Amino acid sequence: VDMRTSGALADAERWTAHNYHPLPVVIAEGEGSWVVDIDGRRYLDFLAGYSALNFGHRHPGLIAAAHAQLDRVTLTSRAFVHDQFATFCRELAELCGKDLVLPMNTGAEAVETAIKVTRKWGYQVKGVEAERAEIVVAADNFHGRTTTIVSFSTDPDARADFGPYTPGFVVVPYGDLAALADAITPNTVAVLMEPIQGEAGVLVPPEGYFAGVRALCDDHNVLFVADEIQSGLGRTGRTFAIEHEGVVPDMYVLGKALGGGIVPVSAVAADRAVLGVLRPGEHGSTFGGNPLACAVGTEVVRLLATGEYQRRSARLGERLHDGLTALVGQGLVAVRGRGLWAGIDIDPALMSGREACERLADRGVLAKDTHGSTIRLAPPLVVTADELDHALIQLAAILRP
Ligand code: PLP
Repeated sequence: VDMRTSGALADAERWTAHNYHPLPVVIAEGEGSWVVDIDGRRYLDFLAGYSALNFGHRHPGLIAAAHAQLDRVTLTSRAFVHDQFATFCRELAELCGKDLVLPMNTGAEAVETAIKVTRKWGYQVKGVEAERAEIVVAADNFHGRTTTIVSFSTDPDARADFGPYTPGFVVVPYGDLAALADAITPNTVAVLMEPIQGEAGVLVPPEGYFAGVRALCDDHNVLFVADEIQSGLGRTGRTFAIEHEGVVPDMYVLGKALGGGIVPVSAVAADRAVLGVLRPGEHGSTFGGNPLACAVGTEVVRLLATGEYQRRSARLGERLHDGLTALVGQGLVAVRGRGLWAGIDIDPALMSGREACERLADRGVLAKDTHGSTIRLAPPLVVTADELDHALIQLAAILRP
């Protein structure tokens, strides 16, 4: 590790809470699929900010939208309306095929919004008895870090010692329809799930699972909420990962790439019958839906409306998955995912996921391990075929004995 990098790492170690265990890379610049560290080394970014950078670093159209808005007005609070607000909400609602949008900032806030809205819908529309609302979630979920959200995590690292926990959640195994059918009661207001479980290791559910979830929700007057914060906005080759299942949720929860890798922007989208339950004063955020966020978010929605990024993800995703599948038995034990999104399991006899990521970084490719031997690959959707091939060659090289 070079001088500047080691100094910056030591400073970060000294001055920050150790709630992350980053790879020893200190990034100074980024463009497209590439970043440069403070010692001048270049890396292909195959994490893309956990899919917050679907359009790459500093996408010119997004940067231009941000610059233009910086020169006009950046924050008003929701005490007033501003001229970027309705445009963003309308275009995002249209992209989702929903009546209404409620913008927030982080993914966790959007999930909290979904929880509050579906509970209120349960009491006011479905007629659930006060304080009895239940939300069914999947084991191994990841929906964020607030005290309520970690209350229904099954990951001890995320949950232990952060209680007392928020009640009202029921956990079922992901992919098990019989378990879901058993878990639904007259008090169930929503089923909240990731269409593909990202943090769990890019777990794709069994074929037909979400069609079954949708049918159970319909039969029991339960809202199906799709957390598309990581899976959505082009990542899997479609605008939403749930489209692969032929299913339309009652509510989309969005974040990450919605802010174009520039500002935190999240939102929920649903029809009036659901989001219409909120009245003034019942929910909000100082920064949610601010002019800068809306200007960037609108440009993100316009990029997605062209379909170009979804097509790239589908086409290059095939190349990625073909290349990875060829490495199964050559150091990989499993490959999962869709589009430009893959979870790969490194043969634990060779090395840990962490060690694999360190070796990849030495060879100029950035990725991040999750849960022991799994690595998630999620390059920006602007990645080229040559860049993909380059990363695959580096991966094959570190796996060779
Ligand atoms: N939901 C999913 C599916 C996620 O992957 C994440 C972040 O990784 C979140 C929610 C939380 O988003 P944030 O970190 O912006 O709060």
